[in-house]
Amino acid sequence: MSAPWLAEIAARTREAGLHRDPVVRRPGDAEFNLASNDYLGLSTHPDVIAGAHAGLDLWGGGSTASRLVAGTTAAHIEFENDVADFLGFEAALAFSSGYLANIGAITALVGRGDLIVSDTGAHASLIDGCRLSRARVVVVPRGDVDAVRRALADRTEERALVVTDSIYSIDGIRAPLDELYRAAVDHGAILLADEAHALGVRGPGGRGVAAEFGLSGAPGLVVTTVASKSLGAQGGLVLGTSLLREHLIDHARTFIFDTGLNPAAVGAAHAALRILRADPAMPERLRASVRRLAEACGAQVPDAAVVSLIIGDPTAAVQAAARCREHGVFVGCFRPPSVPEGTSRLRLTVRADLSDDDLDHVATVVRRALSAVSVR
Ligand code: PMP
Repeated sequence: MSAPWLAEIAARTREAGLHRDPVVRRPGDAEFNLASNDYLGLSTHPDVIAGAHAGLDLWGGGSTASRLVAGTTAAHIEFENDVADFLGFEAALAFSSGYLANIGAITALVGRGDLIVSDTGAHASLIDGCRLSRARVVVVPRGDVDAVRRALADRTEERALVVTDSIYSIDGIRAPLDELYRAAVDHGAILLADEAHALGVRGPGGRGVAAEFGLSGAPGLVVTTVASKSLGAQGGLVLGTSLLREHLIDHARTFIFDTGLNPAAVGAAHAALRILRADPAMPERLRASVRRLAEACGAQVPDAAVVSLIIGDPTAAVQAAARCREHGVFVGCFRPPSVPEGTSRLRLTVRADLSDDDLDHVATVVRRALSAVSVR
């Protein structure tokens, strides 16, 4: 292949300390994994594994087609109904990932001639949804409700959508979802809240930030979330009215043209949902662990399960992460473009299945790694 620019880009990326090598996990790895989003530790729960097996046994290795053709099984519908019931919405629609759910929902809700107000904390999938929609996009500072109100009030477009993460994915801080909802409603807009990092972590029984603010099922609120984090499986979900579900089925391209969510993932996610329902105190236990680890690392206690330790320099961040791994602790290392320039960081995601002793050990390793790269 002749593409000389690839070599130039690769050289520049390496020079800036921004090249990434996916970390390969292998069977028998005996490390503490704080780089996953498996907040409740459910991905390896026996019932979740059994749920995946049941999906495989009944439906095979794949859903075999797009949802509208032959890729919808009874298991998909039962899962969607249970998720909607749990989260307090009329209906849910499952996509094969959270990324595709966000893109599908945004592009189906607004298009050319409409307005989207997004913020600087928005996850990449929300950003891509905004871009693909062809709507005019106004980006406001994260959590700045006044700026959202101004953008909505000043618009010439009739239709408007506000998009936000309910928990910002990079540092686990909660968005002012109640105020954003009010702003959207006051200005005749829809609010889409991505609850990927809130499901199973915040709100009554882990129902998320919308539930925490009493907004479950509120008119004009669309919630997206994922099965790939607290539910330990895979898949994306959009929640709202039955009319919204119908609209997405007819218009969301990432639903229409994508092969349906794998039945094994449906089975696993559904089993995890049942576990969460049966143990509503799980999220509270997780948050106590988060507090313990954040305090022991000298970090700000976040609103969810993501603990962010800012280092600044990308190369130092990589070194600190490597040092943690040498000592049996696997942590996330985030550099631009995932985070703003100068804010490269370690990102620790806490799991409910880690004991206090495990967490204290992790904190010791992390603190030593930070001082080795002269951060604290
Ligand atoms: N939204 C947010 C806030 C996320 O953090 C992620 C996952 N990184 C996604 C959406 C995408 O979800 P998925 O991994 O299921 O595609």
